[in-house]
Amino acid sequence: MNILKYVGLISLSSGLLISCSEHDLANIKLAAHLKKFDQAKELIRERNFHSSNPISREEWEEFLKVDPSDEFTDIEMGLLRENQRLIIEASKATAIRKSAIDVEPLRNDPAALAEFCHAIPKGGMLHVHPYGLFTRPVIEEILNEYNPVIEPEKFITTISNNGQVLYDHELDALRSLPGSANFLDLSDADRSLFIDFFFLPTDPVSHDFTRFDAIFAFVIWMVEDDYLDTKMEKLYLDFLARAAGHGISYIEFTNGFSPELSSIEKLDAWSEKFFNETGVVVRWNLGQLRFLPAEMNAEMIRKWNELLAENPSTSIVGTDLYAIERGNPALEKAQNAYGYLSGYNWENQDHPLKMTMHAGEMGDPRNVRDAMIMGVSRIGHGVLLDEDLINIEYARNLGIGIEMNINSNHQLSVHDKNAAPHPFLKFLRLGIPVSLSTDNDGIFDTNISKECIAAVSTTDVTYAELQQMSFNSISTSFANAKYKDILTNRLRQSFTLFEQEYLNR
Ligand SMILES: [Zn+2]
Repeated sequence: MNILKYVGLISLSSGLLISCSEHDLANIKLAAHLKKFDQAKELIRERNFHSSNPISREEWEEFLKVDPSDEFTDIEMGLLRENQRLIIEASKATAIRKSAIDVEPLRNDPAALAEFCHAIPKGGMLHVHPYGLFTRPVIEEILNEYNPVIEPEKFITTISNNGQVLYDHELDALRSLPGSANFLDLSDADRSLFIDFFFLPTDPVSHDFTRFDAIFAFVIWMVEDDYLDTKMEKLYLDFLARAAGHGISYIEFTNGFSPELSSIEKLDAWSEKFFNETGVVVRWNLGQLRFLPAEMNAEMIRKWNELLAENPSTSIVGTDLYAIERGNPALEKAQNAYGYLSGYNWENQDHPLKMTMHAGEMGDPRNVRDAMIMGVSRIGHGVLLDEDLINIEYARNLGIGIEMNINSNHQLSVHDKNAAPHPFLKFLRLGIPVSLSTDNDGIFDTNISKECIAAVSTTDVTYAELQQMSFNSISTSFANAKYKDILTNRLRQSFTLFEQEYLNR
């Protein structure tokens, strides 16, 4: 054992003798890792913007390897972990000191917690899918109005073809409906049974993504016809009015739209109408389905980019890769589009489409690393970032925003709340700008206040940290600087009022 290792070992085990040398060496190695990631950023731009020559997985992993002399020893990894632990501890102590309200008594008082979480100002929600917003009353309203023909076997075939699943007892229930009948011709019980398929069963409490995904066989069938826009407008307005009631002033939706001028006109007009009717500022991220071929998504993004250069939009602000992550890794499915955009935005600042990506929800934990290297400024979910200390350091370094959806993670087996606290708080205490969102309000039967309840009741989060997440939801949003200023000032005023009222109630 060399002397450095020896000194480092003592500093770790006793805490009495701190070796600058060992820490310095760990820091030098960390810098080498992060520099490698930055070099990889250039490579991904080079290969997907300047040329069209995507990098293979083998070449990628080889490129990301640091010089053997820069590889961390177990002791140095321990130092890195210890360093993060100290930062977390210090950050928690600061947050407790800065908190104007003590949320400790609320953790075991559900009624008081619900009241607090409803009233606390929220800022924005950066991770919301329109097709996941349907509530029971809205579905009933649409099915009553359009009275579609329901053919159970067609749903079963679609679900099976898409690799989605229903539980056996659900298949039996679906097959118990008439083979073909209009919605209004069903009995009350059968109508209710059918509408159940737009939600997750409550037993079991968590599900595989493929069960969740099956819901979209029903949603897409319900909305995607000539009346799509009429139905969606009803849905958006219903949701935005509810979100405003929970203190939300800004929303970013992720959804796919075809790259046409009519899409820009529609979304810009909706954004204006929705703001006038609900007071919520609405923006969209162009969705890329990650199970589609990477070239197809890149082609779509290229078309969008060209279209937006000619026809600037107020409401389209970014892009987001979504749908099932398992089996659709970021490198293979996103580098074409994200590498292209990263290169484009690097060279042209006139109408940048910002980038976020669903990563670290499930599947390969390297997706979070690769998304950051591809130039995202935010990550959707990011739970698996927790699996790699160096990736956490990279996220801290870049100030990557993380859109956390706690109830979604609990219901889709992404995080087991009985096993460990949700990592959102660890990331936040490490200085990563985490914010809370809901993913799919309707399907998960959640809202932003319920996300606050989940955060407070399952972790030791403080008031100052809840406040920080509200501000993060605006600072890491893709709104332009003018709107960020307006929304931040509004949020600041809301917190002043909230604290006055809450403390004097
Ligand atoms: Zn999502």
